[in-house]
Amino acid sequence: MTDSLQILKHIPEGFLNIKPRDIIKLISSPTIFHLKGKEEPPLFISLLLHGNEFSGLIILQEILKKYEKDLPRNLIIFIGNPKACAQGVRHLEDQPDFNRIWNKEHSSEYPLTGSVLEYVKKNKIYAAVDIHNNTGENPLYACISKKDLDFIKLAQSFSENIVYFTRPHSVLSQALSLIAPSLVIECGLPGYSQGITTGVQFIEKLLNSQESWKKEEIQIPYVYSTYATLLIDSDSEISFESQLVLKKGQLCLSDQIDQLNLKEVPVGTILGKVNNFNPFKLIDNKGQDVFNQFFSIINNNWIVKASFIPSMFTKDTRIAKSDCLGYVMQKISITDFLNKQKNEANPV
Ligand SMILES: [Zn+2]
Repeated sequence: MTDSLQILKHIPEGFLNIKPRDIIKLISSPTIFHLKGKEEPPLFISLLLHGNEFSGLIILQEILKKYEKDLPRNLIIFIGNPKACAQGVRHLEDQPDFNRIWNKEHSSEYPLTGSVLEYVKKNKIYAAVDIHNNTGENPLYACISKKDLDFIKLAQSFSENIVYFTRPHSVLSQALSLIAPSLVIECGLPGYSQGITTGVQFIEKLLNSQESWKKEEIQIPYVYSTYATLLIDSDSEISFESQLVLKKGQLCLSDQIDQLNLKEVPVGTILGKVNNFNPFKLIDNKGQDVFNQFFSIINNNWIVKASFIPSMFTKDTRIAKSDCLGYVMQKISITDFLNKQKNEANPV
């Protein structure tokens, strides 16, 4: 079970310059900092739900250095997993993934998740931003899980790349979607400077104006919608190579696989070499395995059968096995995306 929540009204001394691995010297459990600024209502930001994704910490430090004594708006900051951050890992072996515990199925984590959500509700936040990094190469993008104009407008203030997803069901941004416009910002690989700069500018914009992003016209032509999750057999031995070779008992994947993220992958592309068994499952939003719809395995080659757009494809074998290798997405025009809102129940 996760540690319980600590709530502080101030930033501890030394926080603004602390290195990610040393954060444990200042906070050792999930923590909310509730900082007073000039304006209500508060903005909510969360970071380090995944301990190795430290760009959020640098973004926060830059914001606080700039506005230390003069925050334009109340700010509620949730720091998820400082213990894992100190070890430079997503989560410790004996911990759950902190971004897979935010629904009712994870009731054993409720002392933490319930406290955070209750606190946020009570303080009437107007928007929520959960800051993450990718384990593979990805352009910067924002993720939403509600088909709503305000969510789109908030997301386009960070990036023209917007991903709509409903699975997994248990992420923080989905729980927050029931409270306020909410999104995940994906800032590229940990420490990627463009991701940090864009993240700082985005949070600054939200701190300085509660409304400006709402008044902007929709500028993006389409949204990427997550169609299915690509799972990989956890017993597989995986290697990533520039030249695909078939090794006994192993699965050999292209070392360029993460370069494909958010780009259309054409029919016929060979993504890897597979031994005698199929180690993949491609689970769609209804829970069905749709692997054969998108891929085939011919003469040990893993081949694209229907063009698709990948996201979050990773070369981190630990993440690939414990979470997923990546997601298969489809491109939907913004008009179709928003029109569907009228016909569908809230998907979150
Ligand atoms: Zn993450």
